[in-house]
Amino acid sequence: MTDQFGRNIDYLRISITDRCNLRCRYCMPEGVDLVEHRDLLRYEELLAVARAAVPLGITHFKVTGGEPLVRRGCLEFLKELKALPGVETVTLTTNGTLLAPLVKDLARLGIDGVNISLDTTDPVEYARITGTDCLAEVLRSIGACVEAGIATKLNCVLLVDCRDHLVPLAALARDRAIDVRFIEQMPIGAGGHGLDGDTALEILRSQWPDLHPVEERRGFGPAVYYASGALRGRIGFISALSHKFCGNCNRVRLTSTGLLKPCLCYGEGTDLRRVLRQTPEGLSAALAEAVFRKPRAHCFGDPAAVTEQKRMNEIGG
Ligand code: SAM
Ligand code: SF4
Repeated sequence: MTDQFGRNIDYLRISITDRCNLRCRYCMPEGVDLVEHRDLLRYEELLAVARAAVPLGITHFKVTGGEPLVRRGCLEFLKELKALPGVETVTLTTNGTLLAPLVKDLARLGIDGVNISLDTTDPVEYARITGTDCLAEVLRSIGACVEAGIATKLNCVLLVDCRDHLVPLAALARDRAIDVRFIEQMPIGAGGHGLDGDTALEILRSQWPDLHPVEERRGFGPAVYYASGALRGRIGFISALSHKFCGNCNRVRLTSTGLLKPCLCYGEGTDLRRVLRQTPEGLSAALAEAVFRKPRAHCFGDPAAVTEQKRMNEIGG
């Protein structure tokens, strides 16, 4: 459906849990007060939201968290979501630590893509950023996804001190057809100031001078992609701060407690959990209203205007 500014909204990110086995320093370094299980949407409630979203033209779904794979039953949920009539794509965003043993099942259920978050290939740095030593598991998961033929993207947050990490990360796209994407850090949760996408591109060009932009559609998001003759995969940039892309935004988000968030930087949203539990017949109308009222643009350029207090692990990224 189109929102009040004529944008076509066809993509919903669903955070299925606020829990996570990592403590990324820009997300939830000290952990957080976890929400009660009864406050999380149950899988059947999430499926009800998806069923209501499809007739509105929202047919692409991303399952995220917290870490989605720590919630019991995630695989079965993905399978049911993928099988819903009208659903076009279902993808998963994960930190990759628990993924490798599940890859064959994901391929079997027809997952349309997996995004794996990885900010460095250096084990010491990885431990410093995430608070854990799971790098080997993540690398194993990346290999397993590629082997299973799953469309795989790596997501790397551009930290202020990440310059040395960029070339080794991008080199993961050298021999394998995976896309490596660099994401500007956003002032949400523990996120602060980071490197910008243009600086990251400059650093990568010192290694691959022929990196050039390509007009390719490689998903449903705002990433801008670059290619090099020396890389099989593409290098992507998601530069929400330095290259605002709100005019083309196609998405809304559902938090783990059922708040439908029309824009990342505002805390306001529509409480779909209340609707689901008290007036379920109003679900479609509530969803349509929330999508229609999506704000024109984010306000990260004006920190005083940012009203979002939740962390990324509740929102889902
Ligand atoms: N745990 C999963 C993961 O890490 O992929 C899914 C949830 S995580 C919140 C989703 C994405 O948000 C990850 O790629 C993570 O790096 C990103 N993220 C978290 N905090 C961020 C911030 N402050 N700015 C930009 N991206 C952030
Ligand atoms: Fe967990 Fe993902 Fe947040 Fe890292 S970014 S702490 S993996 S939810």
